[in-house]
Amino acid sequence: MKNIILTADRPTGRLHIGHYVGSLRERVRLQNETTYDELYVMIADAQALTDNSGNPQKVRDNIIEVMLDYLSVGLDPEKTTFCIQSQITALPEITSYYMNLVSLNRLLRNPTIKSEIQARGYGSEGGMPVGFATYPISQAADITAFKANLIPVGDDQEPMLEQTREIVRSFNHTYNCNFLVECKSVLAKNLSCTRLPGTDGCAKMSKSVGNCIFLSDEPSVIKKKVNSIKTFPRQIDEPGILENNILFIYLDAFCTDKHFEKYYPEFKNLDELKESYAKGGIGDGKIKAFLNNILQEELEPIRERRKSFENKIPMLIDLLKRGTAKANEIASATLNEIKQAMGIDYFSNDEFENEQIKKFTN
Ligand code: ATP
Ligand code: MG
Repeated sequence: MKNIILTADRPTGRLHIGHYVGSLRERVRLQNETTYDELYVMIADAQALTDNSGNPQKVRDNIIEVMLDYLSVGLDPEKTTFCIQSQITALPEITSYYMNLVSLNRLLRNPTIKSEIQARGYGSEGGMPVGFATYPISQAADITAFKANLIPVGDDQEPMLEQTREIVRSFNHTYNCNFLVECKSVLAKNLSCTRLPGTDGCAKMSKSVGNCIFLSDEPSVIKKKVNSIKTFPRQIDEPGILENNILFIYLDAFCTDKHFEKYYPEFKNLDELKESYAKGGIGDGKIKAFLNNILQEELEPIRERRKSFENKIPMLIDLLKRGTAKANEIASATLNEIKQAMGIDYFSNDEFENEQIKKFTN
């Protein structure tokens, strides 16, 4: 079986450290350390419009911002195909056929959709756009159009992938075929990374919530955001609480033994620091300073690379154009297979004509 990797991001803002540890770092690892046949990275602008229909300029403006973030973390155009969802014409058509295979109740049982409905206030107002409710189906179209089997994502996407697998099984069963491929997630091994919380303590760092440290934040902004992280109030000699401690979750996601050597030589590694912190005697200011040092070190090269690509916007547009053209070819070929399996490929050969002539000549 081919290994086809696909993943997408909504152009609703610049990418943040949650994207980095949850998905981008895994994509770069897959790109550089594994064998695969294709790696697609899609900018999901059509999905972003499902809850930003009144603000298309925001979506438009963030396409290149996201593309800059991709290149800045090390996604390599020689190895990765970049494309824009709304320009791939087969996708909405595939979505429309998949819509008939999913019940409304099933859609709304999706726990990620449930929490997103709540976060956007759609629940109380009852004003949820139909397009928003059905975006998991369009996501299934994105994945299956490329026959992608490996999807590097954060764990909020697991319910979307489960929905995709259900659609694949239902399609293959209903139309008696087997060309649609079941996908699986590639999650970061480190559990702190699969859903990095926000700087406000909220369960997920998210562009739409505004609790992010962006990959492109300047050093002073990073420092300010780290210092603003709320911690449990306590006297310095009281035992420190590790559970749900954002500072330690971020340390879990980012720090290595080398960082201790450089910035906190009193300890060898994070386990030692945790043990001592839990006993008491280490103030949160010290932990924040350590975390700030680490984030500054990790984000500096990313920010600098980003700046170097800011002078190459025509190259970025060209990459997107070429990648989208390639994606259009692949997705159209899958759409043709889908229509053939459903028996709605009336004009692709003379089978339909002959069959109907035969029916009416007897
Ligand atoms: P929005 O608020 O507009 O939905 P977002 O911050 O959730 O934006 P997406 O574009 O929806 O970002 O997500 C892109 C990818 O990044 C997905 O694979 C998602 O699982 C992953 N991701 C997003 N936020 C986090 C996070 N806080 N921790 C780990 N992975 C994340
Ligand atoms: Mg999201």
